[in-house]
Amino acid sequence: MNCSPLRLRLDAAALAANWTLLAGLSGRAACGAAVKANGYGLGARGVAARLAAAGCRDFFVATWAEARELADLGVAVSVLHGVRAEDMADRPPNARPVLASAEQVRRWREAGGGGCDVMVDTGMNRLGVAPEQVSAGLLDGLEIDTLLSHLVSADEEVPLNARQRDRFAAMAGRTSARRMSLANSAGIALGPDYHFDLTRPGIALYGGRYRSGHAGIRQVVTPEAQILQRRRVAAGETIGYNATYTAPREMEVAILNLGYADGYLRCFSNRGCGRAGEAALPVVGRVSMDLTALCVDAAPSLGEGDWVAIDYDLPETAALSGLSQYELLTGLGARFDRIWE
Ligand SMILES: *Cc1c(COP(=O)(O)O)cnc(C)c1O
Repeated sequence: MNCSPLRLRLDAAALAANWTLLAGLSGRAACGAAVKANGYGLGARGVAARLAAAGCRDFFVATWAEARELADLGVAVSVLHGVRAEDMADRPPNARPVLASAEQVRRWREAGGGGCDVMVDTGMNRLGVAPEQVSAGLLDGLEIDTLLSHLVSADEEVPLNARQRDRFAAMAGRTSARRMSLANSAGIALGPDYHFDLTRPGIALYGGRYRSGHAGIRQVVTPEAQILQRRRVAAGETIGYNATYTAPREMEVAILNLGYADGYLRCFSNRGCGRAGEAALPVVGRVSMDLTALCVDAAPSLGEGDWVAIDYDLPETAALSGLSQYELLTGLGARFDRIWE
């Protein structure tokens, strides 16, 4: 098969180091991994296999299709969206649902149950059963591995964090759950009171950072695109759709095989930056569906067929683009080859 003119360079050592760092920050709690949405765009199988080798034992996906992709990796997978009637037939043996409503609890019970996780809502008002339902006996007799809840604003210093933690802590001993789990990446950095028995980082595994508590998290993903052609643009000429960039002088431009269809969205027009060695290569003009132009005055020897790295440090790129760190990763499209090194 031909290689694509687009690739994600994925740093396996950085991924493993990030998990090890987060496992250390999690103290006595075990450290799992959220690998939903195709491992936040990196490729769920590639991520899960490497994290399992690093020692991770608990994986979280959104859907049963995502769980089936990990069926042969020999890892435990929890399905965060729980179980619909349509899901009951084809469930891989290594996966269990995170039951997220009274309806799902009933469905699971009627089907004979077995090991499951349960989500309790402590303030998100998204998925989860209410603490009052638990008190009323909804979960009695269920064989629960892990009781989960999810933080609304773990990336902010707000009173709701402590309120959710206290509501969740009050559930201890009220169910058959073997373990309790509250913290995502940002929640780990809130401190030991938030760790319970198992943490569930996602974004920080992949290079996302919010707090000084995440110092030491390393970038994992670097998009790279091949140059389709190099051209000279005369002073006063414009570049790309709607002529949003006018060359202030004669300049050299490289056209990359990369566009908004690949997740490099229009907000990078006249703002993003490529990199060849030390040379910074700013995006000039509008990003189009499959093409992006860079000024390559700083890289005289760069030409057709050469590869250019795209600046993609997550916190910096989020600030530059207005996209979230999550969107920056999960938007990366299918035309990228995903290459672990
Ligand atoms: C996605 C998700 C996580 C991981 O969150 P990050 O902010 O990426 O660390 C943890 N728990 C649940 C329930 C999730 O949906």
